[in-house]
Amino acid sequence: MITDYFRPQTLDEALTLLARPNTIPLGGGTLLSAPTSDPVSVVDLQALGLDSINKKGSALEIGATVTLQQLLESKHCPEALKIAIKLEAPLNIRNSATVAGTLVACDGRSTFATSLLALDAKLTIVNRQSETLAPDASAGVVNLGEFLPLRPRGLITSITIPLNTKFAFEYVSRTPADKPIVCAALTQWSSGRARLTLGGYGKSPMLAMDGTEAEGLDAAARNAYHEANDEWASAEYRMDVAATLAKRCLESFSA
Ligand SMILES: Cc1cc2nc3c(=O)[nH]c(=O)nc-3n(C[C@H](O)[C@H](O)[C@H](O)COP(=O)(O)OP(=O)(O)OC[C@H]3O[C@@H](n4cnc5c(N)ncnc54)[C@H](O)[C@@H]3O)c2cc1C
Repeated sequence: MITDYFRPQTLDEALTLLARPNTIPLGGGTLLSAPTSDPVSVVDLQALGLDSINKKGSALEIGATVTLQQLLESKHCPEALKIAIKLEAPLNIRNSATVAGTLVACDGRSTFATSLLALDAKLTIVNRQSETLAPDASAGVVNLGEFLPLRPRGLITSITIPLNTKFAFEYVSRTPADKPIVCAALTQWSSGRARLTLGGYGKSPMLAMDGTEAEGLDAAARNAYHEANDEWASAEYRMDVAATLAKRCLESFSA
């Protein structure tokens, strides 16, 4: 239950409000507006100007309050990422849900988080106490892979993904519009580095492989999902599908 609502006009004001107890950022509010018994104060981020998408060299900097639909419609959005965004949520939700809120609230079935994990997305996070949550001094930047297991408090201001990579996304779901039972995302850098992630199961998407070449994708996909058993599918099924999807991702690079 939202007990207090603030709409600061500056980042500084927002950080001051967020330092109060039991006070959290409000992105699109699609999750936070759901009724709960726990009282919470929210800081609406919509007036902070964090809603732009900027190509900076070979990277795309996505403001935290950019909606999923805005990103989907951006000319800079990689084609395979558009497929993953469409699967994340229906249009009405995509029009409100922000990129940062979606990552903070994601579970393993999130196609968006699975894709951004493969792209090795970087989050810029700030807070009032330390000004930065980063483990090093490099401007409060945390890899999504480090962020997801802990989901530390703090205000995400932007998310950065590389554009100079090959990126593929493949999935299997019960119907074309359902969230996948298994999905795979693969990024390949010009250096040969390949990063494979899997989604469709568990509390967070999973990193299956991050190596200097794409050898061993099949085994990595199988290993990552060897315990991926739930009411939607058996681990055995997911292992087979994950290996096939990983192979398809790789093949799409040479198509
Ligand atoms: C009908 C419906 C269906 C849904 N289906 C799904 C689903 O299938 N899977 C799913 O995972 N979710 C689902 N959701 C939940 C929700 O839509 C998503 O999690 C959504 O993407 C959250 O984004 P948001 O911007 O609306 O976040 P909000 O609701 O505003 O916030 C979500 C969380 O993120 C935090 N947050 C937001 N912005 C920031 C920021 N900049 N920095 C730090 N923290 C921040 C908030 O404090 C909060 O903890 C559904 C919701 C609805 C209403």
